[in-house]
Amino acid sequence: MGTDCLFCRIAAGEIPATIVRETDRTVAFRDIDPKAPTHVLVIPKEHYADVATLALDDPGLAGEVLVTAAAVAEEEGLDADGFRLMFNTGPHGGQEVFHVHAHLLGGAPLGPMLCR
Ligand code: 5GP
Ligand code: ZN
Repeated sequence: MGTDCLFCRIAAGEIPATIVRETDRTVAFRDIDPKAPTHVLVIPKEHYADVATLALDDPGLAGEVLVTAAAVAEEEGLDADGFRLMFNTGPHGGQEVFHVHAHLLGGAPLGPMLCR
């Protein structure tokens, strides 16, 4: 996918982002338009369009994304009061960037899961 994908370019260091954690195969960086006091995106460096594709093709890497998210949650002090971890997927899920990313949200009560 490479140069056409915003998050591949962030993973490659071609587009700046505030990186909070990096492992061999994952990166966590602050969302440019935060929806909560803490809003971090966690991605695999390798391109997968969405969480279903990632989980089916490389469940170990899907697990690494979760481990990175959990480590960031602890570093950001979210583990005591809790947080929300979500993967928007496809048009009904409201996905806008088609490189799989977990949204780690916390730092305040987040309200109901869905607004209607
Ligand atoms: P989605 O709607 O695909 O689940 O989430 C995409 C997220 O990426 C949004 O929360 C949006 O604010 C964030 N985002 C979009 N462009 C950029 C960018 O250039 N840098 C960073 N750090 N976040 C971005
Ligand atoms: Zn990508």
